[in-house]
Amino acid sequence: MKWKKGKHMLTTLKEVLADARNAGYAVPAFDCVEDVMVRAILETCEQMRSPVVLMCLIGADLDGNGWEYVPGLIKAAADFHSVPVVLHLDHATDLESIKKAVDCGFTSVMIDGSALPFEENVEISKATARLAHPKGVSVEGELGCVGGVDLQATNRIESVLTEPGDVERFVATTGVDALAVSIGTSHGVYESLPELNIDRLKELNRVSKVPLVLHGGSGTPDNQIQEAVRNGICKLNIYADCRIAMAKGLKASADSQTRPDPPAQQLFGPIKNELAKVVREKIELLGSAEKA
Ligand SMILES: [Zn+2]
Repeated sequence: MKWKKGKHMLTTLKEVLADARNAGYAVPAFDCVEDVMVRAILETCEQMRSPVVLMCLIGADLDGNGWEYVPGLIKAAADFHSVPVVLHLDHATDLESIKKAVDCGFTSVMIDGSALPFEENVEISKATARLAHPKGVSVEGELGCVGGVDLQATNRIESVLTEPGDVERFVATTGVDALAVSIGTSHGVYESLPELNIDRLKELNRVSKVPLVLHGGSGTPDNQIQEAVRNGICKLNIYADCRIAMAKGLKASADSQTRPDPPAQQLFGPIKNELAKVVREKIELLGSAEKA
């Protein structure tokens, strides 16, 4: 399927992942916690004609007026771009947040019931789909558990691989549109390199009626990511690599200041450039260039 060019506003996750699964590429998904990220990512995706998922992270970034701010910016900015943009809520664990996201105009939500026993994960994922689907909002669920550091970077969570035997019933019962699976990645920055279980992924992809999602994409060796995309991963979540890039840009920016009132471009330019570099690399890695 080719997208209708030129008029793209917000799109659902279901729609972009259907094309990705069909054509054998993955859509990059970035957690956007600051406005500078929204702009740098969207401009780079536009240049490379790549669909993109912009994600808002549950927690401190959305507390208070955060629910209006970054999502509002993404909604407004999407209108000025001609590539498909999905506004996605990342890692919600309760239905209150799902309701808020649906009311705020998100086009996609993730319900993360991975810490719950299987039946409870089924229940909350099903309830999420009931809230989201009537409003045309896509749902991503998670089976198994992608461990690593939690979002506040305070606790470490153990990974549990996704069981192929659970997938069919989970997808059929809950009605989720995409499924995050655990095959060996973890969230945050790796202490030692991960080893993805591609055989497990093949099995999961064979039994899953919906496209598969990989979290913990940052820091995973490129050849493993490409192998994962070849075997069914259609969305890759990226956060840590963007923070590393912004830190690098921030340092370059600070080091280059020679006057007390530097031009704004000198202040933020290096940050945006480092971010754009990461976005370009991910698009090339996932094969999503020229797919918009
Ligand atoms: Zn995640």
